[in-house]
Amino acid sequence: MKKDEYIGILTSGGDASGMNAAIRAVTRTAIFNGFKVKGIYRGYEGLIAGESRELTTEDVSSIIQRGGTILKTARSEAFTTPEGRREAYDTMRKEKIGALVVIGGDGSLTGARIFAEEYPVTCIGLPGTIDNDLYGTDFTIGYDTALNTIVECVDKIRDTATSHDRIFFVEVMGRDAGFLAQNSAIASGAEAAIIPEDRTDADQLETFIGRGFRKTKNSSIVIVTESPGNKNGGAMHYADRVKREYPGYDVRVSILGHLQRGGAPSANDRILASRLGEAAIQALMEDQHNIMVGIHNNEIVYVPFDQAIKNDKPIDKNLIRVLNELSI
Ligand code: ATP
Repeated sequence: MKKDEYIGILTSGGDASGMNAAIRAVTRTAIFNGFKVKGIYRGYEGLIAGESRELTTEDVSSIIQRGGTILKTARSEAFTTPEGRREAYDTMRKEKIGALVVIGGDGSLTGARIFAEEYPVTCIGLPGTIDNDLYGTDFTIGYDTALNTIVECVDKIRDTATSHDRIFFVEVMGRDAGFLAQNSAIASGAEAAIIPEDRTDADQLETFIGRGFRKTKNSSIVIVTESPGNKNGGAMHYADRVKREYPGYDVRVSILGHLQRGGAPSANDRILASRLGEAAIQALMEDQHNIMVGIHNNEIVYVPFDQAIKNDKPIDKNLIRVLNELSI
């Protein structure tokens, strides 16, 4: 990485709280070490269109506490095509951007991997997604904040559930990963979690009902991972089943939706984003290529893109046991 070139930074995919803290950390560490930084707007869309400007230390003042991303984010259809990536490369050369720090989820890092295979560009990825579904890092930026938001919401729903003797199916984000559902269920004292990683969906509901959820309790909360593209999943589906099969129960659904994404990042997310952002520049200075910077056992790790993207991150099965044992 030459010092007369810029380090480009962009956020891509879904926004996650803590992305701003990462932008701040990357910018300040780069400047501290004598590099220049360009912020690229609207993810890969802005990379193609050349929507960028130099970032100073002042530009990233007072953003560590803000949710969302000051660089904005986007999903870019064009970047998934070879022509789009060619344009992105041409723009990078024109703008003197020599390396790219990409903050985003699975899709964004897949894009970075393909781009770096096709062109001589150095890409460093930072895991930024509330789903926590990237292999090789214990936590992703945004996950802790989303988890805390969910727990706060479920605490409120619990008041209603108890007052009315109701069963609530609460749907949370996560795509194909159950980290948010499983851990929010433990943290909120929910009766069950229905997650993609645990057997079949049908089994999990049977298990919950089979445990005799109404023998000792008048209200119940079941946290369900969203099920995009699958009409046989999601909280509505389970609520309909219970209504059909157990007509005596007062069943309600609450889909938490986009309120899970935003808000001020938790202290943990701010610290994680600061550490990972700093490490991204350290990685560039060590001449690392095409890796995601992650955290494992509280230590910074470099994970090749291939590993981070292609492997499914397993959920700790002990968590399933913990929830089952504590929800009797
Ligand atoms: P989140 O987990 O929050 O949804 P994400 O990064 O997984 O974040 P995606 O919408 O999957 O979000 O991906 C973001 C962008 O990354 C896409 O809009 C696209 O521009 C780029 N991208 C994704 N997959 C590819 C691919 N196979 N090739 C090139 N670019 C890709």
